[in-house]
Amino acid sequence: MPYEGQQASKRGHIDIVKNDDVKKFLSECTYLTHPGDQAGEVIAALYQQAPVCTELPRLVIASDGSTYSEAIDKKFPSTQVGYVKTSFMAFDMGDYNGLVKPGSQFVDPYAAASLHNRARAVAFTLPGSNVRYKGLQVQDGFRQAVYEQLSDERTQIPRGGFSVKDMLYHLEGGQIVIEKCPSCGAAGSHVFKKGEDERDCSSCKAVVYVTDSLRIHEQISDQGDNSSAITRFMNAVEHLQLATLLKAMADNSLSTVSSAAIMVDGPLALFGQPARYHASIQAFYNKLFERCAAADLPPPLIMGLQKDGMVMEHARALSSHLKSGTFCPISDEYRAKFINGIAPLTDNFGHETYYGQDFIYKTDSGRIFDLCLAYPFANKQNRKEFSRQKAAPQNYDRWLARAFALIRHLEFDLYENSVVPVALAHRHASISLSPGGTLLDVLTRKHLS
Ligand SMILES: [Zn+2]
Repeated sequence: MPYEGQQASKRGHIDIVKNDDVKKFLSECTYLTHPGDQAGEVIAALYQQAPVCTELPRLVIASDGSTYSEAIDKKFPSTQVGYVKTSFMAFDMGDYNGLVKPGSQFVDPYAAASLHNRARAVAFTLPGSNVRYKGLQVQDGFRQAVYEQLSDERTQIPRGGFSVKDMLYHLEGGQIVIEKCPSCGAAGSHVFKKGEDERDCSSCKAVVYVTDSLRIHEQISDQGDNSSAITRFMNAVEHLQLATLLKAMADNSLSTVSSAAIMVDGPLALFGQPARYHASIQAFYNKLFERCAAADLPPPLIMGLQKDGMVMEHARALSSHLKSGTFCPISDEYRAKFINGIAPLTDNFGHETYYGQDFIYKTDSGRIFDLCLAYPFANKQNRKEFSRQKAAPQNYDRWLARAFALIRHLEFDLYENSVVPVALAHRHASISLSPGGTLLDVLTRKHLS
């Protein structure tokens, strides 16, 4: 994801908030502002002492994604190709510890560079506007490219085996139904099962793929900007690849997955057309938590970290009022009252998209984090009750202290309000020109046996 300001407007900068028309308009609006001292104290009183432990995960996997949409020929700016890169950093905590020189609070840049060199990327190339893949219509070509690339070697674990495409079946209980033809729109169910990934539409004869259930192609137009579809693809594929990695690890050794932490850049959520899969990812992780509990093992830490967005902006504005070493879950009431400044829009924030709960945490050293922990519930039945339970800290007893310990261990002056692995994954995703590899390369043989 781009850092703030990375995609600046092409137009010149005009200070419109100083414009009289705009000032008048804003006088009739409600919006988030800096909390005054009194309001800051009221909110800070909701924060509680963060639980402490010294237990750290043995394996950390951090991820970040980047997208590029670019004209193939500068003379034809509307003819574009999309490129998505998902970068993963996996390291054993023992290796990481060498990163800090004894007695110093700073990261050894050489050790950081060597860790960075171990980041692995999986890249996807997609047709954008005006590009006909294999002679198909733009949207149909996009569907085929998504199917091919989510099935092929780049996401298979083990090699020649289980891919992100197969993970879709696993998430949805073995069968996926698409209600209408994605090409001509003709009604009629297309039923997919493992090994039966393609179906022909009886009306238009187009091939329908199981990966069409992600519905990303719906945002693709023949002409015009397709960068939002490419961004949706990146968001979905990053979360699906992490779930695929965890499944592969769990199938080999539950104790490896139990001692692992996943750190995603951004919230634990799937947005836009692929959002339906957020629910089955939530269920999948909860099944994994239960399997660990049944084996008397701690559940893995699955965490999103946001460096921007409304929660983070609120947290930064509030930070001076907060005591170090405190935290607060962002309940729907909190979000409505202090962040959005308006009544809740739904019974349950993120009902269609989120599979994790936001917490604001101020570390002992005074840095502020917005972390998102996977919901410890298999589903969201009963919206109102779920909205209450998801923000009750006692439901996160198995994770909170470990999550805070991990953040404290990985925070460094070098990376303001970020942690080293996520910052390195971000750097790898955004600037490294290394070619894409396979998801299998993210883990060493040791992690898969
Ligand atoms: Zn059709």
